[in-house]
Amino acid sequence: MPQKLTNVLVAGRCVSTDRYMQSSIRVMPGCFITGQAIGVAAAMCAEQGCDTRGVPIAQLQRRLKDLGGYLPNC
Ligand SMILES: Cc1cc2nc3c(=O)[nH]c(=O)nc-3n(C[C@H](O)[C@H](O)[C@H](O)COP(=O)(O)OP(=O)(O)OC[C@H]3O[C@@H](n4cnc5c(N)ncnc54)[C@H](O)[C@@H]3O)c2cc1C
Repeated sequence: MPQKLTNVLVAGRCVSTDRYMQSSIRVMPGCFITGQAIGVAAAMCAEQGCDTRGVPIAQLQRRLKDLGGYLPNC
């Protein structure tokens, strides 16, 4: 989520991270994980009538896990 923008979500190669994180997130698994996360987050915004900063993160994580998403730390 860009720091100064609302209702803009970014996935895949164009996400901004520090150098160490970028080395792993820039390849395809990181791209599809972030893509699935923002797709589900956008759907939740539409369902709940909230903007991207209002998405309940715990609920988003639960939905991603229910969909078989890869969230090893949750
Ligand atoms: C040479 C090379 C080798 C790689 N090898 C590997 C590898 O072995 N394993 C691995 O996991 N990763 C590899 N990667 C990294 C991986 O391919 C990319 O990180 C990943 O594909 C990025 O996905 P993305 O969806 O973010 O962007 P992209 O796959 O670049 O998709 C962006 C899409 O947006 C389109 N687009 C751009 N501008 C517009 C516009 N204005 N309007 C509409 N559409 C637009 C583009 O045409 C493109 O289809 C490699 C990358 C390169 C360049």
